[in-house]
Amino acid sequence: MRVIVLIGAPGAGKGTQAGVLAERLGLPHVASGDIFRAAIREGTALGLEASTYIDRGALVPDEVTLGVISARLSRPDARAGAILDGFPRTRAQAEAFDRALAGRGNRVERALYIEVGEEELVRRLAGRRICRSAGHVYHETAKPPRRPGRCDIDGSQLEQRDDDRPETVRARLAAQLAPMLDVVDHYRGRDVLAVVDGDRSIDEVGRALLRALGTAPTAR
Ligand SMILES: [Zn+2]
Repeated sequence: MRVIVLIGAPGAGKGTQAGVLAERLGLPHVASGDIFRAAIREGTALGLEASTYIDRGALVPDEVTLGVISARLSRPDARAGAILDGFPRTRAQAEAFDRALAGRGNRVERALYIEVGEEELVRRLAGRRICRSAGHVYHETAKPPRRPGRCDIDGSQLEQRDDDRPETVRARLAAQLAPMLDVVDHYRGRDVLAVVDGDRSIDEVGRALLRALGTAPTAR
């Protein structure tokens, strides 16, 4: 079973790359947010337990999270392995996950860290602009409007949400990066870490990730 952990800050393109890797390697893309929602929707015992925390805005305890992930990895489509996206989020989760995998005679094959500098992350995350009248979404660099500051569709003014202001983004990132870097450290200590420069195009990052997994990056 190939257990591959993908690590990256918000804005690093982790979800996109997880999808690319999953397709290329024929493994399911296991995004922690999705499987929580699925477990809750399906009303599994763990899903119900998780929802008691989520409903009151509390953090789901690690053992519940680990249970949900383990149950997902026990499904038939994950027999050959999985690409994990969004888990583990903390060193404690990474350690508990190692123990759970070891109990099945398994281990994390590779932890792939998509590294993007903090200022570049701020630039990506703070670039979003929303049109005032209908909420059409643009991005200063990734999806600029044809006319600066104006919506292509209805011509209304584009504005930046408070949530997307650089200082807000920077503060949010600071809180998110510390636990993520602990996870990076954990896998470095386990000698399974590969760091990939994420400050490149989606295709280039995807090829670098495949190379880090020992898979030829050329298309089939
Ligand atoms: Zn618009």
